[in-house]
Amino acid sequence: MDIFCKIINKEVNSYTIYEDDIVKVFLDVNQKHKGHTLIIPKKHYVNLFDIDTDTLNYIFKVARNIAVLLKEALNYDGITLLQNNDYGQEVKHFHLHLIPTYEKENENSNIEEIYNIIKSKSSTR
Ligand SMILES: [Zn+2]
Repeated sequence: MDIFCKIINKEVNSYTIYEDDIVKVFLDVNQKHKGHTLIIPKKHYVNLFDIDTDTLNYIFKVARNIAVLLKEALNYDGITLLQNNDYGQEVKHFHLHLIPTYEKENENSNIEEIYNIIKSKSSTR
């Protein structure tokens, strides 16, 4: 079983910032940039060629909401959506990266701090 299915089954912990019946949204353990987030479907799909379009559309709808939340929480300067398939795809379970970018970034922020900042914003809605 891949690591994302284990996260969905709660066999592995994650810094979850949103979830519903269809998707789970959590911080990437390797924070390439502050607030680097992954959106995955709860049902196992391998990649773009495997996922159904309803789920795909829903993932992008959630992506926009999460991008707004991350903007409020972290005030990034830009945000990149990235999705790898086959070669370059580390985990063979569909996942969409949301990668905030910054003109100037404080390198000292750790994942726990970032998580707490985002959660404090999402709980005030
Ligand atoms: Zn999976």
